Amino acid sequence: MAASITVMELGFVQECEPWRLRSPQFPSKVGGRPAWLGEEGLPGPERLQCGVCKKPLAFLLQVYAPCTGSFHRTLYLFACRDPACHRAGENRSYKVFRNQLPRKNETYSYGPPPDSPPPGEDPASFQLKCGLQLCRVCGCLGPKSCSRCHKANYCDRLHQLIDWRAQHKVVCAQEADVRGVEAADHGFLFPEYELVTEPEELDCDTSLTDDSTMSQMDVESMSSNVPSNLESSLDDLKLNEDDLTAMAKHESEDDKAFSRFKKRISVEPEQVLRYCRGGDPLWISLQNVPAENDIPNCECGAKRAFEFQVMPQLLNHLKVDSLQESIDWGVLAVYTCAANCNAETCYVEEFLWKQDVSVDTM
Ligand SMILES: [Zn+2]
Ligand SMILES: [Zn+2]
Ligand SMILES: [Zn+2]
Ligand SMILES: [Zn+2]
Repeated sequence: MAASITVMELGFVQECEPWRLRSPQFPSKVGGRPAWLGEEGLPGPERLQCGVCKKPLAFLLQVYAPCTGSFHRTLYLFACRDPACHRAGENRSYKVFRNQLPRKNETYSYGPPPDSPPPGEDPASFQLKCGLQLCRVCGCLGPKSCSRCHKANYCDRLHQLIDWRAQHKVVCAQEADVRGVEAADHGFLFPEYELVTEPEELDCDTSLTDDSTMSQMDVESMSSNVPSNLESSLDDLKLNEDDLTAMAKHESEDDKAFSRFKKRISVEPEQVLRYCRGGDPLWISLQNVPAENDIPNCECGAKRAFEFQVMPQLLNHLKVDSLQESIDWGVLAVYTCAANCNAETCYVEEFLWKQDVSVDTM
């Protein structure tokens, strides 16, 4: 991994015409409803539940990231909307999926995507080309439908209830065909943006390799300075001094990690994403950095490698701040199958590691 010089791509949010963020454009985007790539094997409601509260997850972002062997390839990240599910050390409130399609497929044209909005397309379409119905709230598979009109679909009873109150009660009573009606604002989706990327340009004193080597060294030096209980026969005063020294060192090492994080992003402070398949994440802290065996292998048996990280700056664009608890993270690092195993007729689940902003660095 460290041997090859790979360029980090930085991601930024940008306002964009909605049609450019729909499936035929193969977008990278934040918020709104997912722009599904393949129509086969979409994750159903049971795979899109929050691991903590079991409620449906909200679509956070997707990255279009073709690679050798995959003409089309998109990664999807979902997150729970409930701040209570985002406690420190908790990553079950996130899910990541990977899907791929060959260039020649039954859903999209072989040539480049159209450069103008599709004529007469229904902007409120909740139906895939293949006929599958999507939930009117979250845009994920909607196997349940309104028992009265059978024209409004939902992933879950909870979303049916939200939509009933916001819109469907009226539309259903009017016996209008809800499929031609634009969806209500349920306050469930994150604001929608295009995600544009550009290569990271580094100051000459912040080289890529330096940075990652240093952070690894820091992690090692930190663990070798953890006070050991084996020396408990030493007198208490001596031990306390050792403890204090170790703690002070730990704190200053962590400050250093945070300074390095800030310095590295200061060149492009608006970055919300860092993408580099097989590269190294930029950690915000030395605490809670995953060891190699903290990253589970893909279900195919291959190792997973780092592919991208979501930066805390994205939170500024999501309107999730509240006076009480709010959704928060330091780094969301996504690891994907290094073998890029087959995901052409299914959505393969990948792995996310969350690093919190430690209290003492902020
Ligand atoms: Zn939850
Ligand atoms: Zn839903
Ligand atoms: Zn109805
Ligand atoms: Zn795999």
